[in-house]
Amino acid sequence: MATALFNSVIFGPIKSRRLGVSLGVNLPPSDGKICNFDCIYCECGWNADAALAAVKEGRKLRFAASAEVVEQLGSKLKDMKESGDALDVITFAGNGEPTMHPDFLAIIDEVIKLRDSYYPTAKIAVLSNATMLARVEVRKALEKVDRALLKIDSAIPATIDAINQPQFKYSLSDIIANIKLFKGEVIIQTMFLRGEYNGVMIDNTAPVEIAAWLDVLKELNPSLVMIYSLDRDTPADNLVKVELGELEEIAKLVSAVGIECSFS
Ligand code: SF4
Repeated sequence: MATALFNSVIFGPIKSRRLGVSLGVNLPPSDGKICNFDCIYCECGWNADAALAAVKEGRKLRFAASAEVVEQLGSKLKDMKESGDALDVITFAGNGEPTMHPDFLAIIDEVIKLRDSYYPTAKIAVLSNATMLARVEVRKALEKVDRALLKIDSAIPATIDAINQPQFKYSLSDIIANIKLFKGEVIIQTMFLRGEYNGVMIDNTAPVEIAAWLDVLKELNPSLVMIYSLDRDTPADNLVKVELGELEEIAKLVSAVGIECSFS
């Protein structure tokens, strides 16, 4: 299906299902994707397609330069402020994993200064797949933001392999240990879906999946869990959205263990 890249460093503002009026910051390339996952539902498409397109066109996929990010965000916030536009959140998202940027901590520091200057009540959110938390500077950066939204789509390694397709040696226990360092000051986000990819049937709503996922949530005790399902085109064809009513039932199970859960 047709997926789409974010073709600028700053995008929006958009009305986000989960975050409100959100101005996006895209640290990965504006003309490709860099991620150490290759999720079958990624709205940015497959890593290989982005890499191949870059090779064909003689481009190199690069993260945005720190100075460019700060300059463009400052300019956009100034314009929005002068126009009287509302802003709830500055959100790091886009064409890949933002915490892979080599200057992520320094960028966060600069973005906090800009937020304090133009929209002091706006939050700063980072959507991350939680794979870079072993790096101290990444943890420091995420401790400074208002909302670190960390992805855990399953607590069963084979399902993580099928859904998220890690491009490196992924250890769920390491990821959990690193998330625990935040002492619950994180939001866990989970994409629920069903379908088939490469001959593997996938259903992370199955009882065995939910039981294992709830155990991990109890261990992490996050401030909030956000669950959702497919909303946009996906690179894999045979995926099926989980309907709201079913997400609501899953959310009730999370609430029952004493953790707030939103669904959308
Ligand atoms: S972690 Fe996010 S950016 Fe990376 S492949 Fe998955 S959905 Fe795409």
